Amino acid sequence: MDYAKNPAIKNFVEYLQIPSVQPNVNYGQCVSFFKKHADELGLSFKVIELVPKKPIVVLTWAGQEPQLPSILLNSHMDVVPVFEKSWTYPPFSAHIDGEGRIYARGSQDMKCVGMQYLEAVRRLKAEGVKLKRTLHLSYVPDEEIGGHDGMQKWVLTDSFKALNVGFALDEGLANPTEEFALYNGERCIWQMHVHCAGQPGHGSLLLPNTAGEKLRIIINKFMTLRDEQKKILDSDPKLTIGDVTTVNMTQIYGGVQSNVLPEKLTVVFDCRLAVTVDHVEFENMVKAWCKEAGEGVTYEFEQRNPPVAVTKTDTSNPYWVAFKTAADEMNLKLDIRIFPGATDSRYVRRVGIPALGFSPMNNTPVLLHDHDEFLHAHVYLRGIDIYTKLIPAVANV
Ligand code: ZN
Repeated sequence: MDYAKNPAIKNFVEYLQIPSVQPNVNYGQCVSFFKKHADELGLSFKVIELVPKKPIVVLTWAGQEPQLPSILLNSHMDVVPVFEKSWTYPPFSAHIDGEGRIYARGSQDMKCVGMQYLEAVRRLKAEGVKLKRTLHLSYVPDEEIGGHDGMQKWVLTDSFKALNVGFALDEGLANPTEEFALYNGERCIWQMHVHCAGQPGHGSLLLPNTAGEKLRIIINKFMTLRDEQKKILDSDPKLTIGDVTTVNMTQIYGGVQSNVLPEKLTVVFDCRLAVTVDHVEFENMVKAWCKEAGEGVTYEFEQRNPPVAVTKTDTSNPYWVAFKTAADEMNLKLDIRIFPGATDSRYVRRVGIPALGFSPMNNTPVLLHDHDEFLHAHVYLRGIDIYTKLIPAVANV
């Protein structure tokens, strides 16, 4: 099959060829690209710029009952940097090889999903389908650098509230098996600096109350927790990294020179709290460790995400019921998990909107942020089929 001639593949290739790569992304080409598609499809088109040069693009298909909460189909326009020398084909060429693999940065993360939404809408419109609920397709900036000037700000604005979103879809991950990974929650990021103050003095003595002794206790406490979590993860093949709390020591700083006892040594930990962790209890545990380590041991947060409820995947969530029913009709095997990293879904869930992370890429190696990121054309096209069933299911709830 000559994939390059397929109109949906052509559109996908065109989007992949826009080098919307971090840092300092020029989003102008993406905005014009979506304006063209919005006009073609008869969708209303809006650009919201909360921060200069960081556009949020919204394409809207009004539903027949527009007073009902709407459906948000979100994707991000930016992609992570590339090490071009390590790529077989130039990363913004969207080269299609003889097997039908489309090589490009963003082919998995997540220009595929952004275009699949659009192609599914194109098909539904061509079939004369009318949806009950309004559909908003949002294309947001800067997800790859934390979404601070994108989704994080947007969900708190009147322009977002005016959309009256009842349910959202956002990105998931590829999965090498037959199953489709589906994400209903994310762990919470806690990045902490633990400062250990101590008695300064000469490096030749054995003075009491040194920063180094306290630092050792703190490191032992955090690393013991790490060992325990690793044991839990290793003990059960059904668990994935999203199911446990991860702890990593990422930085150590302090001191002035090698023969002077420092006034302070600091260690930094990147923790990702499992969704089952009680945040108050976790912080109390850290407080107790600091107390045990000795006088003058304190902590501060570089980043502290609040607890966010996972999106329910039971009969209490009608959007889930609709999603699952449609997936069952297509015989899709879903594997529900907690996302290992962080996506814009966390901001959506934080304002109380149920959101699922889903990128329809089964039988596909996980290559996001990697060299030679690719997506097979037939997996991409099947994804359009899948959204053509999923979108009306959730929009007709
Ligand atoms: Zn992504």
